Amino acid sequence: MIAKERLRLWVDAAAAGAGLLAPLRARARRGATLLMYHRILPREAIGDYFEGLAIEPETLEAQARWLARECEVVVAREAARRLAAGDTGGSRPVVAVTFDDGYRDNFQQAAMILERHGLRGTFFVSTDFAPGGGILWCDAAARAWREDRQSCRLALAEATGSPADDGAVATLDAWMGRLKRLGHARRNAVVAALGPREPDDFEAPMDAMMLRSLHARGHEVASHTCSHPMMPELDDEALDAECVRSRSVLEELLGAPVEGICYPNGRADARVREAAARAGYRYGCTTRPGLNLPGGDAMMLSRNHASRLAVTDRDGRHHEASFAAVVFGLHAALRGAWSRFAR
Ligand SMILES: [Zn+2]
Repeated sequence: MIAKERLRLWVDAAAAGAGLLAPLRARARRGATLLMYHRILPREAIGDYFEGLAIEPETLEAQARWLARECEVVVAREAARRLAAGDTGGSRPVVAVTFDDGYRDNFQQAAMILERHGLRGTFFVSTDFAPGGGILWCDAAARAWREDRQSCRLALAEATGSPADDGAVATLDAWMGRLKRLGHARRNAVVAALGPREPDDFEAPMDAMMLRSLHARGHEVASHTCSHPMMPELDDEALDAECVRSRSVLEELLGAPVEGICYPNGRADARVREAAARAGYRYGCTTRPGLNLPGGDAMMLSRNHASRLAVTDRDGRHHEASFAAVVFGLHAALRGAWSRFAR
């Protein structure tokens, strides 16, 4: 365990012990907190790469039990509605539990776990993937890297017109980071050059039946665009299409209005925000952490990332003080206090 993690656990426990969370919890009652999750996977499937993006079912179970006791859990649509109406401020903080992308483990694990504790979640799906059945570009690129790094290096060199250094494919993180910075057209060219792929069992999306089932059981299904692009990189036409088509696909599938959109990788600027509003969404989610207060911008809601790296103990198990610290924004508050102090 590295020193930073040890320090984080110590700070979380000390903050809980010293009652530092109480004022943050009181503040959280004034607004609505959105939690961000991606995948629910068994320990052996998480590995290093997914450590920030996946948690184990047992961890989510313990978190759901805590949330049911400590917070008023609503779907994101309802949290946005209460913020717009100034209807927060009950005895327990309002929290929404959100999942990005649309992987099948969301249906097989997350929904069931939440329901066991009487909770409902919000599932943001990229419709080419769920229910479309395609593969997310990031999964296609990651699998290509695992299979053949040299081909990845060559495809990158071809798309950029310059010889790619070995560093770009040295690790999976380096490869994915390089692709994310490449720009929409070049990234698509690289992924296309790596060849067509179907999602395997590990990468499988939810299908139409699963999305309908979630909706029927009281969960919210909302948009994460069609193809999971970096939205600011799109031209106006493509941007509108991603917003409009994903919404209409889901509305037709569910037979109900879809009110929310979650911007892939949290990437949204004023133009993206406008396109989402124009497409009829009533709220939009970023990946910027923080508490949402009434009167804030409904199209740019903050979410706190319930990353495995932030919420578990040194053995990767549920750590109540750390989870509470993430829900109530302890680390952001401490960083803010420190930067004021250090100025
Ligand atoms: Zn995503």
